[in-house]
Amino acid sequence: MPKTRKERVIAMARKTTARRTTTKTTPAAEPAKCQPCGGTGQTSVTVRVGRKRRPVGQQDGLCLDCFGTGIAASS
Ligand SMILES: [Zn+2]
Repeated sequence: MPKTRKERVIAMARKTTARRTTTKTTPAAEPAKCQPCGGTGQTSVTVRVGRKRRPVGQQDGLCLDCFGTGIAASS
């Protein structure tokens, strides 16, 4: 036996609200930037020469952490 009309309406309303599940589309996770190079894929390497390892300057080198991709390896 159905309840009163008012109760049925409330029940229906509850059902519809319950069905409205928040289907938030999670944004694609951006790849984490490589820390040592800051996402550039290149790091400045200090160039050293001689027996005393005297620094003569800096040279752009391939980031060894991400191998030039700029994206932190997820391992
Ligand atoms: Zn890197």
